[in-house]
Amino acid sequence: MKIKCDFCKTEYTMSKIPAMPVKCAICGHTWMVKTPSKKNQLFVFLAALCALLSAIIFTIVVVMHYRSDSTSKSPLIASIVKTELAPDGNGVNHFIVSGIVENVSDEIYGAPNIILMTYGADGKQINSSEQFNPPVTLLDAGARAGFVYTLRAPSAGVKKIVVKLGDFEK
Ligand SMILES: [Zn+2]
Repeated sequence: MKIKCDFCKTEYTMSKIPAMPVKCAICGHTWMVKTPSKKNQLFVFLAALCALLSAIIFTIVVVMHYRSDSTSKSPLIASIVKTELAPDGNGVNHFIVSGIVENVSDEIYGAPNIILMTYGADGKQINSSEQFNPPVTLLDAGARAGFVYTLRAPSAGVKKIVVKLGDFEK
């Protein structure tokens, strides 16, 4: 550690704080070297504590943000209400899918395209996704609109139909 003569300001390096008064070799001034103030140590401790607390708060905020993100629901939801089979002119069956698209938020939204996907017994998607225009262009807060769509793909092998919504804007 470094100590400084109180009188002539000459600096000396010492391995530890001397218990006895020291005498300056230059000016002959004698003084007692003080231990580093407790105030200083307290300040360092408080600064470390603040850093730790802000790190904890930051972590909590990040976790909360992540949680609210993962649980937030889409403002628009679509669901299938009913599926029926109907043969086309060649006697090939197709699904007629009835459902609703609903605005569960308290703001108005443009209605998105509706996408239907078909899945086989192995859980894998079969046929191409089929997309069609919504029954309305705007969905008011809390409003719902029904849709009916006949799948172009034949019903053969289809075990499950899933409805999805395209991109939408406020
Ligand atoms: Zn001195």
